[in-house]
Amino acid sequence: MKQWFLDLWEGFYTVLVGMKITWRHLFNQNVTLQYPEVRWPLPPKSRMRLFMKYEDCIGCGQCVRACPVQCIHVKADKRDAKAAPIYASNGQVIKLDVKVFDIDMSLCCYCNLCTYPCPTDCIYMTPEYEFASTDLSSHLYHFAKPSATFLTTKPGAPAAAAPPATPTAPPATPAAPAAKA
Ligand code: SF4
Ligand code: SF4
Repeated sequence: MKQWFLDLWEGFYTVLVGMKITWRHLFNQNVTLQYPEVRWPLPPKSRMRLFMKYEDCIGCGQCVRACPVQCIHVKADKRDAKAAPIYASNGQVIKLDVKVFDIDMSLCCYCNLCTYPCPTDCIYMTPEYEFASTDLSSHLYHFAKPSATFLTTKPGAPAAAAPPATPTAPPATPAAPAAKA
């Protein structure tokens, strides 16, 4: 009988010892987040997915030369000399026609070196980091847009003088209702 009580106590004591850490954490502050419902605030200058604003790219290739893993691929031709000038949003004239601008984010090491030399600040890191995929080819981003609309006036340049106003025609009189047969 005595042994029975000893075994009972030993079993109960073992459970108490096993639950010690559990009990302690019941009253501590949580250190985990319920991701994806809750997310950590990102630190400033976090390096995530790259973006390139095609309309501001002058095709200089400085980002390509800065990239240590050669994951940016740019192909650009000279624009027709007679074509109307187009501008990046910082006022730089775009003299090259950027036909291809690809970034393979599956090779990118997120060093951010490509963003520093860009003369128009059109390539930059976004706060987007949830783009994991099992298909590596889905990380090859094509930024060249054949249908892009560029600025045709230099930003910040004084607006061209408006042509003298032409006398306006008198308002048209409303059409008479069709006569009934
Ligand atoms: S972040 Fe670094 S590795 Fe990625 S594209 Fe830019 S220069 Fe290349
Ligand atoms: S450095 Fe900037 S402007 Fe030059 S090719 Fe790269 S993204 Fe375009």
